[in-house]
Amino acid sequence: MGLDPGELDASVTARVPVRLGRDDRYFSDTYQAMPRHGYTRMFERMLAHPGIKVLLGADYRDVVGEVAYREMIYTGPVDEFFDHRFGPLPYRSLRFQHETHDRPVFQPAPVVNYPNEQPYTRITEFKYLTGQEHAKTSVVYEYPCDDGDPYYPVPRPENAELYRRYKALADATPGVHFAGRLGTYRYYNMDQVVAQALTLYARLRG
Ligand SMILES: Cc1cc2nc3c(=O)[nH]c(=O)nc-3n(C[C@H](O)[C@H](O)[C@H](O)COP(=O)(O)OP(=O)(O)OC[C@H]3O[C@@H](n4cnc5c(N)ncnc54)[C@H](O)[C@@H]3O)c2cc1C
Repeated sequence: MGLDPGELDASVTARVPVRLGRDDRYFSDTYQAMPRHGYTRMFERMLAHPGIKVLLGADYRDVVGEVAYREMIYTGPVDEFFDHRFGPLPYRSLRFQHETHDRPVFQPAPVVNYPNEQPYTRITEFKYLTGQEHAKTSVVYEYPCDDGDPYYPVPRPENAELYRRYKALADATPGVHFAGRLGTYRYYNMDQVVAQALTLYARLRG
């Protein structure tokens, strides 16, 4: 970038998503980790509880009438829950391109960002994150797009204002608790979304 980090105030470098040092980890948090056996095993073990039944490929609208509940925790898009009454909340989506290469290593770091003319924004090579050793390697290219699964809320003042109107509806809906990235229209990472879920649980338990 041609900028000496010393020229920038630390409060600025902490907020802007630009790396000026040689920390090549994905985030800049002090502690960064993956579940020991990966998220898939972690969720499989959590969902193996006898009180939990999983229905895959089922829209909650198709089953909500068949499930008795006192409190519902809804983690889908909040605007969809209210039939887009005030109009749709914009989300950014991604198209993923998976590739396997016949060599042990593809790139020099787990994530390489491409903030330039390429149509993809980053390439992730997962074996760096898991520590897997193998003669081949798998990578994923991410292409940003505005249609597809909703992944990222779009942080603009007009969208925050629209979300506020949905939040007022959500707060006035008894027995339903909105959580997660889509339910609260916030850009959360895993640690934040888990903290939000545990806080909600503690509140519901009184
Ligand atoms: C490309 C990408 C990379 C990321 N990398 C990281 C990372 O490295 N570290 C990190 O900490 N976080 C990362 N995140 C963020 C992390 O994935 C999210 O914080 C987390 O998944 C949010 O959990 P959630 O339960 O709020 O939402 P989601 O995981 O989105 O779960 C919502 C679920 O609701 C379901 N749903 C929606 N509507 C309905 C409906 N009508 N009926 C039934 N089900 C419905 C969806 O299918 C989905 O399964 C990444 C996210 C993306 C998109």
